[in-house]
Amino acid sequence: MKLVIGHLYPDLLNLYGDRGNIACLTKRCQWRGIEAEVRTFELGEPIDFTKLDLVLLGGGSDREQMLVCQKLREIRKDFQEYVEKDGVVIAICGGYQLLGKYYKTDQRTIPGLELVDMYTEQGEGRLIDNIVLKSDLVEMPIVGFENHGGRTYINGNRSLGKVLYGSGNDGQTKEEGVVYRNVIGTYLHGPLLPKNPQLADYLIKKALERKYQREIILEKLDDSQEEEANTYVFQRFSGEKEK
Ligand code: GLN
Repeated sequence: MKLVIGHLYPDLLNLYGDRGNIACLTKRCQWRGIEAEVRTFELGEPIDFTKLDLVLLGGGSDREQMLVCQKLREIRKDFQEYVEKDGVVIAICGGYQLLGKYYKTDQRTIPGLELVDMYTEQGEGRLIDNIVLKSDLVEMPIVGFENHGGRTYINGNRSLGKVLYGSGNDGQTKEEGVVYRNVIGTYLHGPLLPKNPQLADYLIKKALERKYQREIILEKLDDSQEEEANTYVFQRFSGEKEK
């Protein structure tokens, strides 16, 4: 089996080393004997979404988001077709915001891809902290770090998880991220997938099942160190004991 992973605009959207997520996906495939090819795309390069099985859109500053949004609008139709055909996407922070209708800052309104019915507006102060979620998608809690000025409103869409510690989408609703078809958007930065291997496997499984049109049971890997780190963060911040 083989997965083709598309990394969109890593030069511009790679805040806090979001590309570490690509390394995690690749390794977890290879450890199971699944071939993983990474195709990186620069701004303006044509993208054939029909050749991709998993797409990563990383985080960026407001300035970088403004730079990429114009180009993203040009590929919007193809990207939307990919999403509506259950293409797998993981979009992080700035990339997450760009999935929606717009991201409004004090300076300007950055138009989004309109792939998911949601929007983002800058609020007072930045939401910066560790964050812990409970998600329906995976058994383990999802742990990470958030740093965003935007507040995201997901208009009744399903969230990635309930916030146990931290701010999440808007600092009010205690919801974090969005799940739409096989698209996951989240504010959790940097090593999201290495810290949350079950989420990495969720994406790999979805992508393989879509490609090969059958149920895929992924071979279990030794995640004892990742699990230990995850449990430590969970207990430190959420104040709850793992069951
Ligand atoms: N520029 C956006 C914000 O501050 C996203 C930043 C990020 O990707 N961390 O809300």
